Amino acid sequence: MRVGCPKEIKNHEYRVGLTPGSVREYVAHGHDVLVEAGAGAGIGADDNAYRAAGASIARSAEEVFARSDMIVKVKEPQPSEWVQLREDQILYTYLHLAPDPDQTRGLVDSGVTAIAYETVTDARGGLPLLAPMSEVAGRLAIQAGATALQKANGGRGVLLGGVPGVLPGKVAIIGGGVVGLNAAKMAVGLGADVTIIDRSIPRLRELDDIFNGRVHTRYSTVEALEEECFSSDVIVGAVLIPGAAAPKLVTREMLSGMKKGAVLVDVAIDQGGCFETSHATTHSDPTYEVDGIIHYCVANMPGAVPVTSAHALNNATLHYGLQLADKGLKALVDDQNLRNGLNVHKGRITNQAVAEALGYEM
Ligand code: NAD
Repeated sequence: MRVGCPKEIKNHEYRVGLTPGSVREYVAHGHDVLVEAGAGAGIGADDNAYRAAGASIARSAEEVFARSDMIVKVKEPQPSEWVQLREDQILYTYLHLAPDPDQTRGLVDSGVTAIAYETVTDARGGLPLLAPMSEVAGRLAIQAGATALQKANGGRGVLLGGVPGVLPGKVAIIGGGVVGLNAAKMAVGLGADVTIIDRSIPRLRELDDIFNGRVHTRYSTVEALEEECFSSDVIVGAVLIPGAAAPKLVTREMLSGMKKGAVLVDVAIDQGGCFETSHATTHSDPTYEVDGIIHYCVANMPGAVPVTSAHALNNATLHYGLQLADKGLKALVDDQNLRNGLNVHKGRITNQAVAEALGYEM
């Protein structure tokens, strides 16, 4: 099979669908790989690195789309890309179709077989191709919070780790899933005083075992949220209710009880945010202030670290990508978890949630 990787064209997207390391794996499996010139520039991988890995370099995206049997990307195809897709092609990328009727129509009309990273599952029902980006965002959340907490950046002027003789800063993490766990690891590593709040008691038990007393855990009630928010220097919002908008757990009224210059990092902003006063921000202007509280609400946090993010994403996508390249559509028959990733096939929507959200027949 010929596997194609065009350069990402969405605004400020620096990741790439295939790293040179992934190219070597596809080539070792006997596939041809065609990479658009400059596709890896955002992660510091030049065309020679791709050539050395065994890829051919295409001069344009058009050439990649025209000559490839499977397209591997990062972000959902943009209008100029979806018109180039064909019925005999496989598209393997993040899609997020439910809120995007235009892209969905474009993919349906193209006839392409589109597999969405975000709906591929694993044996435990998890979402293995989403998890690496949650790991990145969770770890970044503490870096972002610690930076915003500095006085010159509008924060309280507290060092999260403290120093001998001075207490450390306090971090509250609301939601102890993948983002929350990774945020906690970083906060503990810095020496902060960390509390994780979740509404799942089994999850709180797991976190208690993982950290062996190094973090506090609390069941999520309004009282617990108020107490932790009022006493913390950094509050990380990391809740997820699958398929739903994030619940507004921290109200505007609660801001008045918090320490002036405390920092809210709303990682759940891509699902609408879990603080009432959150609105999405960008890497070029990441923070704003409401009632003396600094808000950091960047919707694509992993975009700040494309080198790490692209490699983490490739680690997760490679296994299924190779199955698709080796077996073609039979890979979907052989593996239910990969089949769960199938969203569009020959002009039909094949994912229940997407069909329901956009009014398509399955
Ligand atoms: P996850 O499913 O692993 O964890 C979510 C946790 O929230 C679960 O443990 C759940 O029990 C808990 N929860 C649900 N309702 C709660 C409540 N009322 N109180 C306390 N806890 C509650 O999800 P995740 O992968 O950690 O993702 C968390 C959020 O981060 C999602 O909204 C995700 O989309 C977002 N995210 C954002 C970025 C970004 O760049 N901003 C990147 C990755 C993930």
